[in-house]
Amino acid sequence: MSYRSIAIDGPSGAGKSTLAKALAQELGFLYVDTGAIYRTVGLAALERGIDPADAGGVAALLPDLSITMAYGENGLQHMFLDGEDVTGAIRRNEVSAAASKAAAIPAVRDFLMEMQRRAAREHDVIMDGRDIGTVVLPGADLKIYLTAAPEARAERRCRELRERGQQADFDQVLAEVLERDRRDSQREAAPLRQADDAVLADTTELDLEGSLRLLLELARTHLNLTGGEAHE
Ligand code: C5P
Repeated sequence: MSYRSIAIDGPSGAGKSTLAKALAQELGFLYVDTGAIYRTVGLAALERGIDPADAGGVAALLPDLSITMAYGENGLQHMFLDGEDVTGAIRRNEVSAAASKAAAIPAVRDFLMEMQRRAAREHDVIMDGRDIGTVVLPGADLKIYLTAAPEARAERRCRELRERGQQADFDQVLAEVLERDRRDSQREAAPLRQADDAVLADTTELDLEGSLRLLLELARTHLNLTGGEAHE
């Protein structure tokens, strides 16, 4: 049996994970958050005192790492590092920068590729990240490039951090967003870019509900789904 896949790529803060999660729930697909996988590598480097930008150091670490994911009843993706649940720890702000540095290392991308492709071989998936439509799942049934103005993305990121009880200074968060955009789109290994056959969705002026409506419409059209139920 072949499974269906939707690839959602775009810069940080465009609403990928929130929308992908909601869309997965609507369609009955599995939501795979690939950023969480890169974050787990970033966290592993930080915990072991290795500079996440040090390609040699991080590559040497990989064979000893056990990174697994598991899904809770509500479809929530949990990440495990050497058996420990790090789902909360990988959301820390310093892990964002560490993940984006480690993600520029080709050995890291190769190491994580099979894990991502396996998920799509075994389930109907909505997978979000930076290179899903271009590299990981080039044959995805629908590719969406989700973006928004940097200021709108920084604003959302501030809200998210504050909701988690963390401090957030808008100017600093905006600078971090721009820096991560630069690193993700200018790196040599699988840079962030819109796939030629991806649909562009800009959420700057859209709220969550409007964005979800747009994505649902795209999914129904491209995957030939009828109504709200996708499972046969
Ligand atoms: O999506 P999220 O912000 O959690 O991703 C963390 C970092 O992981 C990104 O800044 C990006 O550098 C990297 N990443 C990637 N490719 C993916 C997903 C995430 O390079 N498919």
